[in-house]
Amino acid sequence: MADGSVVRAFDAYAARAQFPILSRTVNGRPLVYLDSAASAQKPQAVIDAISGAMSGSYANVHRGLHTLANETTEAFEGARATVARFLNAEAETNIVFTKGGTEAINLVAAGVGQSIQPGDEIIVSQMEHHSNIVPWHMLRERYGAVLKWAPVLDDGSLDMAGFEALLTPRTKIVAVTHMSNVLGTINPITEITRLAHKAGARVLIDGCQGAVHAAPDVQAIGCDWYVLTGHKLYGPTGIGALYGTAEALESLPPWQGGGEMIETVEEDRVTYAKAPHRFEAGTPPILEAIGLGAALDWLMGFDKAQVIAHEQALYAHARARLDGVDGLRVLGEADGKGAILTFTVDGAHAHDIAQIMDRYGVAVRAGLHCAEPLARRMGVTSSARASFALYNTKEDADAFVDALIKRASSLSDDHGRQADHR
Ligand SMILES: *Cc1c(COP(=O)(O)O)cnc(C)c1O
Repeated sequence: MADGSVVRAFDAYAARAQFPILSRTVNGRPLVYLDSAASAQKPQAVIDAISGAMSGSYANVHRGLHTLANETTEAFEGARATVARFLNAEAETNIVFTKGGTEAINLVAAGVGQSIQPGDEIIVSQMEHHSNIVPWHMLRERYGAVLKWAPVLDDGSLDMAGFEALLTPRTKIVAVTHMSNVLGTINPITEITRLAHKAGARVLIDGCQGAVHAAPDVQAIGCDWYVLTGHKLYGPTGIGALYGTAEALESLPPWQGGGEMIETVEEDRVTYAKAPHRFEAGTPPILEAIGLGAALDWLMGFDKAQVIAHEQALYAHARARLDGVDGLRVLGEADGKGAILTFTVDGAHAHDIAQIMDRYGVAVRAGLHCAEPLARRMGVTSSARASFALYNTKEDADAFVDALIKRASSLSDDHGRQADHR
């Protein structure tokens, strides 16, 4: 996929050195950043691309005939072509820029909603992020769609037989995540797509994690829509992308109205531009798109398989060492899972764990991770999550485990007599 660019052997220390923020300290300790599943840090290449655009060539896109407008349009549309290359999309016209993963899913749901009939069925999985649940709930509330939930097995994998049993001739949409932001599970999305299409449903894949930690190829998957978000891909916030097949994009009515998304506007009639511009009303997030393009160019400079192997090795190392921690439960142990380590410790609040780890400079997240139905399914009220990215090292994994082992026992002592927080 990285055609044209030089693929160099992956060196985590060299990659890490390109992230200025990772050399800072937190509470007097070197920062150990293990919250990349919430948002990833940015390499110098991305910082330079954004500030370079602001200081070197900036204007609004598409509308101008002057040099800066043309240069900025070229950079902006170039970023679209980069996203297309990253996903192996048919063409750059299959890529719509949005302000993030959430907006991309809402765009599809709003469009689909216009033709939803009461009783039409939408299948999501129990491991979805709220971003891939709530927009579909809204179709249930507003138009009488029926939400059906593909079950998750105890090991955190999707129950494929359970999923298949939900498909009916009334299934309109199957919306599932490529990779769970809590369990790390990587779903068999090609098979899910095949089954859904056989039943006549369209398929949306939430790739907000999968685009980062797996190797998405939308043509191989065969899905109708695939969603990614910039800030988890080492790019800026405020930018995401929706991939759609030409036919799937064409099936969606225009979304927001405004400049750039029209063909002609008259007093009594309006005609719309073709995709992708039809879905990009108003001035787009120009600098953010350029930043995303830079992030993906940078990322495609690495061998993705080596990056994934590196992240999974960190996970395996931390996971093996955690076997020694009393009362520890890891959520999600599916085969081939990505490098997300979500856990509970008997008698210890996840929030306390996160706060205490912060004293050691270790950044982990605690709570529901925007996936409340999944927490209920796994029988927990909250959990702590360490998520690994390409810039993490074995030292990071060890610092995390050391801090946890040191504090876990004292936390259980403090809270041991309290209710079981699972
Ligand atoms: C982060 C995330 C989202 C939401 O993306 P935003 O960029 O916050 O809009 C959706 N799904 C998954 C799996 C995520 O991890």
